[in-house]
Amino acid sequence: MNAISTAALSPLPRIDADGRKNLVGLTREELEAEMLGFGLEKFRARQLWHWIYHRGATDFAVMTTLAKPVRDKLAEAYAVLRPTVVRDLKSTDGTRKWLLRMPDGQEVESVHIPEEDRGTLCVSSQVGCTLTCRFCHTGTQRLVRNLTAAEIVAQVMLARDALGEWPAPPDGRMVSNIVMMGMGEPLFNYENVAKALKIVMDGDGISISKRRITLSTSGVVPMMKRCGEELNVNLAVSLHAVTDELRDIIMPINRKYPLKELIDACRTYPGVNNARRITFEYVMLKGLNDSPADARALVNLLRGIPAKINLIPFNPWPGAPYERSTDRAIQVFGDIVNHAGYASPVRTPRGEDIMAACGQLKSESMKLTAAERARIQEVIAEKDAELAG
Ligand code: SAH
Ligand code: SF4
Repeated sequence: MNAISTAALSPLPRIDADGRKNLVGLTREELEAEMLGFGLEKFRARQLWHWIYHRGATDFAVMTTLAKPVRDKLAEAYAVLRPTVVRDLKSTDGTRKWLLRMPDGQEVESVHIPEEDRGTLCVSSQVGCTLTCRFCHTGTQRLVRNLTAAEIVAQVMLARDALGEWPAPPDGRMVSNIVMMGMGEPLFNYENVAKALKIVMDGDGISISKRRITLSTSGVVPMMKRCGEELNVNLAVSLHAVTDELRDIIMPINRKYPLKELIDACRTYPGVNNARRITFEYVMLKGLNDSPADARALVNLLRGIPAKINLIPFNPWPGAPYERSTDRAIQVFGDIVNHAGYASPVRTPRGEDIMAACGQLKSESMKLTAAERARIQEVIAEKDAELAG
């Protein structure tokens, strides 16, 4: 995994402009150690945790279960930081997208997708991505850096701020589900993602259960088992092709971890059973992977794995080399998969008017100059060479 997993790491400074240390993103144990080191009792960490992650407090002054002198002392040394919201866009279908800027100037996006019975927050794990999936806009961007645990948790906290959901109700929440499906490959930033998700799952805090969290991977086979054992979240796998021949082209990570290894890792993913299926994401690309024969091959490939198949109509972005399959092709494909006994919902593209749909994040407009097009080719070639090395 060498160059892929460690490329360009430059962690965000955990200190704010006034030299105060950010408490967001510390595990419970780390927060306890921090308080002990600061000369406070261990139970102060528990109180702080409740205020920060259950009540959403960012100001020590409101933390009234702590004595005033303690609050003042904490406020001098610590901060509870949020990223800056650079843009806040709302789609006509209710989807909302926040462009967030971190203190070092890097930007990522999170998207909130409200549905009748739930609200899903799509969270980013990296600024850019090392991989170059050909249908994905993030694939055309260099990996700038991994997000820290604080920056990953903060995306959830910021959504709660914006939606007025502190403390969150036990039922009917606006942010009820999390999908690690924003920018980046979460299993190439596993440590930080794991830390962040453990904070998100904590019952005395944000309290979103592992059953409501889905991590999507392009197929980083060596990390899948650990993810299942340690986090036990739902797994989604970006499959998108049923032969190595095609997958090698549209998802170059396949050259490193081919289909057989990926399918084996899915078969043995910890905790997978009929009640907890793996979601296979399949982006529908016109004339490339959308024939009835492909649908039958897909069914064969997944035989024996408790699976759901999520058909995603391709979302175009500037300079994209593919087109979306026709509605008819998607329907025929879906029918074949359905008849074979797999649930195969077609994902309705959401937030298209604010460029919030899958794979479009951080894309500005649909126009592209020739120079920009050439630049994209250059970045892809460079990243592919790195993957091969
Ligand atoms: N890196 C992870 C998670 C982020 S991408 C992964 O690859 O799984 C989230 C999902 O959106 C993936 O299934 C990805 O393949 C899909 N996707 C990317 N670009 C897309 C596009 N232009 N149209 C539709 N789906 C896309
Ligand atoms: Fe990276 Fe996922 Fe996009 Fe592939 S689909 S380039 S892994 S974000």
